[in-house]
Amino acid sequence: MFEKILIANRGEIALRILRAAKELGIATVAVHSTADAHAMHVKLADESVCIGPPPARDSYLNVPALLGACEITGAEALHPGYGFLAENARFAEILADHHIVFIGPKPEHIRLMGDKIAAKTTASRLGIPCVPGSPGAITSDKEAAAIAQALGFPVLVKAAAGGGGRGMKVARTANDLPVALETARIEAKAAFGDDSVYLEKLLEKPRHIEIQVLGDGHGKAVHLGERDCSLQRRNQKVWEESPSPALNASQRLEIGEICANAVRELGYASAGTLEFLYENGKFYFIEMNTRIQVEHPVTEMITGVDLVNEQIRIAAGSPLTLTQKEVVFQGHAIECRINAEHSATFRPSPGKIAYYHPPGGLGVRVDSAVYAGYSIPPNYDSLVGKLIVHGRNRNEALMRLRRALDEFIIDGIDTTIPLFQTLVRNADIQNGLYDIHWLERFLALGGMDEEPA
Ligand code: ADP
Repeated sequence: MFEKILIANRGEIALRILRAAKELGIATVAVHSTADAHAMHVKLADESVCIGPPPARDSYLNVPALLGACEITGAEALHPGYGFLAENARFAEILADHHIVFIGPKPEHIRLMGDKIAAKTTASRLGIPCVPGSPGAITSDKEAAAIAQALGFPVLVKAAAGGGGRGMKVARTANDLPVALETARIEAKAAFGDDSVYLEKLLEKPRHIEIQVLGDGHGKAVHLGERDCSLQRRNQKVWEESPSPALNASQRLEIGEICANAVRELGYASAGTLEFLYENGKFYFIEMNTRIQVEHPVTEMITGVDLVNEQIRIAAGSPLTLTQKEVVFQGHAIECRINAEHSATFRPSPGKIAYYHPPGGLGVRVDSAVYAGYSIPPNYDSLVGKLIVHGRNRNEALMRLRRALDEFIIDGIDTTIPLFQTLVRNADIQNGLYDIHWLERFLALGGMDEEPA
């Protein structure tokens, strides 16, 4: 096992990794920008190194500074968290060249899954159900028109290098297709420097359901069930839960086994997530994330498995000791991503937290790195913390969430807590009846115009 690891991230995920490391008896090195000198992850780490000024490209994405920090502290391994350098295959290779272990999958798997067309082709070869679409990148408008006709409209034009929903355009009819292709290409070129696009059948009312996997690269892999992340705003997940209100045990088992088998065959070594759209009882693979995800606690709460601990042990070369039989799903968990934003306008609200009181009690977990007197810098994303609740069933989890949200006090800044106070009282949410467009529709219809009583 490692003696010391460096955590190349900030905020709640830096703290989350630090906690796993401490429980494994591993010393921790925090890195921070000058804007984060007073951050909680810096205070709680055994050592810390300032790696640059506030802009992420000069600090958290500054590879030479991170290598220097490993060098001067003697860290043997680096955990990238999520975002920043977590899915940068080149970075993982550079670390290997410097004999520093990247706590994540092999660079070739990061690269493979970062290329959407290659990822889909691989998934399909491994028996994972995919969205019907073009077999690869589109070479001409004529070819696109023929493929779209065969798929049936509406279709979606997607950027091969895609990410964050950019370079994605809907064509409802054959007439829309040339413009959709052209605008997707222009957007993709501007965002990713690569204008290759491909086609997919547009699913009208899917849910977003993803499968958590763990593989050790030595022939062992397990799945840890699903997370339903259908409640999204602008392609950003807002509320995640497990089990999905839409799945039954046999569907869970079937898709879970498909994913675990695929990961085993790939020789994938770390935690990973296979993301699917789910419509009319069918799963359609969209992408695989080769990192720990923001919403991982939901899975931890219902399985009792510490996913970051597993990532660290796998990176250290330990075989997976967890067997599929030992993965037992208990109860129901829900996570709310609380952002420093106004709950109706979503205007960012960085600034000083005057008073902070997190909720507690049975089945309540708060993953956050803020405290009273802490100033949220304007330079990074607006996640203040995650409230995760666990109950014996969905109703208990919902009741617990409701009371935990009512206990949560974050004074001095605007937060999205009122959004969740409204959602938890909404009949569709209580009945589990929502798809990936539900939240946008709810907001467009003025769902947050009045604050909850
Ligand atoms: P990105 O990498 O840009 O985030 P994804 O392929 O993950 O792109 O898609 C982002 C989101 O777009 C999905 O979560 C889903 O909401 C929507 N989406 C993607 N593909 C389809 C599709 N074929 N039909 C309907 N919606 C889709």
